[in-house]
Amino acid sequence: MVEVDRKRTLKKAARVDERVRMRSSMPITIATAVRLLDHLDQRLGAETCKHDLRHATAFCEAESLDQEAIIAWLGQAGGYCDCEALSSLEDLLEEVRKFQA
Ligand SMILES: [Zn+2]
Repeated sequence: MVEVDRKRTLKKAARVDERVRMRSSMPITIATAVRLLDHLDQRLGAETCKHDLRHATAFCEAESLDQEAIIAWLGQAGGYCDCEALSSLEDLLEEVRKFQA
């Protein structure tokens, strides 16, 4: 099943490529991304996602970050609501750790 393996490899490469692109266009530092992740994780542990980015937005406001740029960036990665943003950030930071290892 060489063909299947090849497709799988390509798919994986495309995913990594997406992460790398997301990382290179990051409007925030890795450290801030980690804190945003923690913030979303905490909030979504206390209540369910309301299908918007209210917690991500609140974090940007509290930290005086470029909210528009961050929301646009999260959207590029498929993070159109807090829970999606959380999983995108988790994937991204995992990828970053791999690169640094
Ligand atoms: Zn959600």
